[in-house]
This record gives sequence, structure tokens and C-alpha cells, in this order.
Amino acid sequence: MTSPAGSSALASAVTPAIEARELYRFYHIGDDETQALRGVSMEVNPGEIVAVVGPSGSGKSTLMACIAGLDEPDGGFVYINGERLTRRDEKARASLRARSIGILLQSGNLFDHLTVRQNVRLKMDLAGQVDVARVGEVLELVGIRKRGDAYPPHLSGGEASRAGLAVALAPRPPIIIADEPTGEVDSETEQRILALFEDHRKRGGAVLIVTHSEAIAERADRVIYIEDGKILKAPK
Ligand code: ADP
Repeated sequence: MTSPAGSSALASAVTPAIEARELYRFYHIGDDETQALRGVSMEVNPGEIVAVVGPSGSGKSTLMACIAGLDEPDGGFVYINGERLTRRDEKARASLRARSIGILLQSGNLFDHLTVRQNVRLKMDLAGQVDVARVGEVLELVGIRKRGDAYPPHLSGGEASRAGLAVALAPRPPIIIADEPTGEVDSETEQRILALFEDHRKRGGAVLIVTHSEAIAERADRVIYIEDGKILKAPK
């Protein structure tokens, strides 16, 4: 097979794993308007960990929800591996999400009436993957195998974070989006989670994390600072 483009042209032609263009999101309560996102553009390439940091209320969770296709921005577009996620019906969004993104939001991603193991299994089913061994493997990976038969309301904060991570990672999604994944865990677990993200990066995966953790921000390839719904300055 011959390549029509030179290597530099190929390098610049890498399709971002995540591309957000000019995202706007407004909330209205009565006469009050909150401008949660005011023209946010960013991208995450395959093989990259990008951290999003900013004060509480700056729009980080709104940005994650829009990028994950769980919320629809009022303006702008999101592309996942070159495929448009925004302005599509829920069925198309859900399908793209299931194929491409492992999501760990603060609201949690566990069903309370299913055990940890069943939650992981359900995620695999939704992603169309039949791999029973993977369920045990991913529970081991995040260090929660012993609690596989526990129901989420019986987990500690740290265990719930790890179980949520197991669900997000189980189908080996090319993209991981995590909102404060280490908010409630001890430093040993934080290191373990970081190692998982770095392993994902090594395999060419993309990771976008909202974090207050300096340890994570330091090990990210780039840090995006957000304040009042806008990106403050260029990545480090
Ligand atoms: P962060 O994650 O940085 O703390 P958020 O994205 O949660 O910020 O919130 C950004 C702004 O949007 C805040 O002022 C918040 O109060 C507001 N906001 C977020 N979600 C809603 C909502 N569902 N309804 C109304 N306002 C909201």
C-alpha cells in the first residue's frame, strides 16, 4: 500500500480522540442565567492524559457531561474519534458512548441493586462484549475483587470509586473520562488508579480527568485550567 502523504502530513492528520469546539452551556433558573461554559475548545489525542483543573463552579463537570454525551451543549460541537457526538439522537449518542468512552462521573456509574461484579458485567454487555474472564481481571486490576459480590450502598467511598473505575475500564474503551476519580481514595489507591491511566495511555488510549490532585496533574501530559466557564491559559 502506498501512502499519498509525507510523514509530517500524516502526523498532523492524527484524529483527536476527543475534540470539543466552542462549547457553550447555559442554565436558567427563573430569571437567572448561569453561563457554565463560554466557548470552550480543547482536544485530547490518542496516547495522552489531559487534566482539567479549576475552582468549584467553574464548569468542569458540565464540560465532562457534554464531552461524554450525557448533556447537550447549547452551542458548539463534540467529536469522538472524528465522529460527531452532539446534535444526534440519544440512540446514536448512546451507541457512540458505549463503543468509545469509559465514564466515571461524580454522580457515580453503579446501579445499587446490582453487585459490583454484576455492574461490571452489565457494562460489558452494553458494550457488546462477551468476555467473562475480563470481569474478574478488571476487578483485580483496581483492587476490589474481594468486594465483587457487595452491593454499592455497602461500599466505602474509596471502594465505590474503584468499583466505578472497574465499570469504566471493563470494555477497554479507547477514551476514559473521569471526574475526580481519586477524590475519596487514599494515596496508595490514587497511585494505583494513576498507574491504570498511564497504562491506558501507553496502549494509545486517551484520558481526560477532572482533578484537584497535584499528583495527577503532575503526571498528565497537559493541564487545562478552567475558570468561569472559560479556558484560562495554554496547557503546560
Ligand atoms: P464544577 O464542576 O467546576 O464545580 P459545574 O460544571 O458543576 O462546575 O457548574 C458550573 C456552573 O453551572 C455553576 O455555577 C453551577 O452552579 C451551574 N450549574 C451546574 N449544573 C447546573 C444545573 N443543572 N442547573 C443550574 N445550574 C447548574
